[in-house]
Amino acid sequence: MTLYYYCSSCQKENSFKTTATNRFELQKERGSFINERCKKCGTVVKRRINRVHAKPNIWILIIGGVLGILLTAILFLFVPIIILVLANSVVFSIPFIAWREQDKKASAFNKVMVSDG
Ligand SMILES: [Zn+2]
Repeated sequence: MTLYYYCSSCQKENSFKTTATNRFELQKERGSFINERCKKCGTVVKRRINRVHAKPNIWILIIGGVLGILLTAILFLFVPIIILVLANSVVFSIPFIAWREQDKKASAFNKVMVSDG
């Protein structure tokens, strides 16, 4: 998943990718601190694991929505409207389900803190 932290210098949000799904795994992977260079101002940021947070990726909704609209437009030319309406409810629910799954994972990550002394 993608994790986020704020730069201590410019307060901008930075992100990095990890295979860790919770802070314990992240601590195992990275140690008690995240040491990353801020992508906005270049400062090397040292952040405690507990200050790193997860959030669902909004792009799933945006890309899913756009693909849904495109697919609808294409289908509109070929299938009767009643089938289109049924197909649409499936097409548009997929990105929402994917987003909700991410949201669950993100809040599970955010809830559990590690003891980092
Ligand atoms: Zn910065």
